[in-house]
Amino acid sequence: MPAKPVVVNQTPSMASDAVRARMVQRLTAQGVADVRVLRAMSAVERHRFVDSALVNQAYEDTSLPIGLGQTISKPSVVARMIELLLGAPALANKPGDRLGRVLEIGTGCGYQAAVLSHVATEVYSIERLRGLHERARTNLRPFRLATVHLLLGDGMVGYAKGAPYAAIIAAAGGEAVPEAWLAQLAVGGRIVAPTQSSNGGQALVVVDRTARGLERRVLEAVHFVPLKSGIA
Ligand code: SAH
Repeated sequence: MPAKPVVVNQTPSMASDAVRARMVQRLTAQGVADVRVLRAMSAVERHRFVDSALVNQAYEDTSLPIGLGQTISKPSVVARMIELLLGAPALANKPGDRLGRVLEIGTGCGYQAAVLSHVATEVYSIERLRGLHERARTNLRPFRLATVHLLLGDGMVGYAKGAPYAAIIAAAGGEAVPEAWLAQLAVGGRIVAPTQSSNGGQALVVVDRTARGLERRVLEAVHFVPLKSGIA
């Protein structure tokens, strides 16, 4: 006799759990190895941060429009950059530890701030566009993340009140890493930022502050929206 079919009451959120788990499997296959990053990427429901018309693309490895000409970075780039942050000198050989205070420049829809809240004790995220700052506030409200602080302002000058930071991450690319970020970085801290490269493109730049001073490395090419000054 055929077994009675099991009726699984699949809520949309359970369905998204499975798609998100596949996204995390792909990240692992692409080389993301830090379990802190993989856990954070599995925890945050990316589909809650994109427009309802784009929900079925939320777990593809693609950047998506979030309004006002801006984009949410693709998951592999978010994971890569956060994995780099967790390689900060202060956390070297501390595979289970969280970062301390993190400053994010470019809140956008708030997705990356939510991911960061899983790997850091406090997240200060600054956005220059009021419309997106407000959208991020609305998106993040249901998650009740008490350690995420959303700020409206020009991130080019950093956010001195939260300094010094264990890590600074930029989601928009400028000509160079602003002086203010270097000044607000703790000893043992790390900056990960897309920055203009000599060939006119953009590359990820990592700056560490060690007891010996600043150490800068240029990594792979990337494509981010431009870092702009002032608020709008
Ligand atoms: N981390 C975001 C990605 C947003 S895209 C997310 O998860 O959705 C980058 C954002 O940086 C845009 O919203 C843009 O408005 C913002 N931005 C650009 N220059 C900035 C500046 N000087 N200060 C703060 N935000 C800035």
